Amino acid sequence: MQVTIVGWSGSFPGPQSPASCYLIDTGDFRLVLDLGNGALGALQQYTELGDVDAICLSHLHADHCMDMIGYSVYQNYHPEGPRPRISVYGPEGTNQRLARALGSESRGMADAFEFTTLTVGTIEIGPLRMTTGHVNHPVETFGFRIEHGGQVLAYSADTGPSAELVRLASGADLLLCEASFLDGPGLPADLHLTARQAAEHAARAGVGELVLTHLVPWNDQATSLEQASAAFAGPLRLASSGLRLLGGRPA
Ligand SMILES: [Zn+2]
Ligand SMILES: [Zn+2]
Repeated sequence: MQVTIVGWSGSFPGPQSPASCYLIDTGDFRLVLDLGNGALGALQQYTELGDVDAICLSHLHADHCMDMIGYSVYQNYHPEGPRPRISVYGPEGTNQRLARALGSESRGMADAFEFTTLTVGTIEIGPLRMTTGHVNHPVETFGFRIEHGGQVLAYSADTGPSAELVRLASGADLLLCEASFLDGPGLPADLHLTARQAAEHAARAGVGELVLTHLVPWNDQATSLEQASAAFAGPLRLASSGLRLLGGRPA
C-alpha cells in the first residue's frame, strides 16, 4: 500500500499545498482520503480522476470535502458521457451537504457518487480493511486505521486530544497526524492538536513513523517539527506535496 500526500495544508489551502488529501494505492485499488479545497487539481498529478475507486471523507469541514463539487462536474459532464459512480464514504448527511454546496444542476451529487454513511467499526473497502472511530472535533469526525498487505496506516483527521486516536494508531507503521497548533497559552479545547501533542499520541500508540500534517499556513513549520521532536523519538517528518510513504507498487 502506497500513500501519497496530495494536500497537507490545514484549515485552508496554503501557498505550497491544497487542503487535506491523501491517495492510497494498492496497485489495483485507489482510495482518496479527504478532498479539501484545491486538492482536485493536485490529485491529477498522481492519478487519473477516472481511476479512483473510492473516496472517504473524515468530516464535512470545507478543508476536507469541498473539492467533491468539482469532482462531480468531472463525473457528470465528461465528454465521453457520465462516468460510473464512485463509492463515497462519509459522515451522516454527506450527500445532502455536498448537494447544497453544488446547488441546482441538471445532474447532481447522487448521479456522480454512491454514498455510504460511515459508522464506527470495521469495513472492507476493496482490498483495504478500514477501522473507524470518532475523534475529538466539533462536528462528527472519523479517524482511521487502514490495513493492507501487513501494513497499517493511521490517520487522525482533525482532532483535539483523543484516546480513540491512540487506539486506532496502536502499533501502526505510519501515523498521519494533524498538528494544527504550536505550543501556547489559551488554545481552544477539543478542536486540534499541537505538534507536541501529535507526537505524544504517536509515542503512546507506539507507531513506527510519524508524519505531521494539517499544517496551518500561518505557523512556522520548523517550530512544529522541533516541538514534536521533543515528544517522539522515532522517525518524524513534516508532510510535503507528493511525498510517498509505506511500500507498494511504484507509481
Ligand atoms: Zn481541517
Ligand atoms: Zn475540521
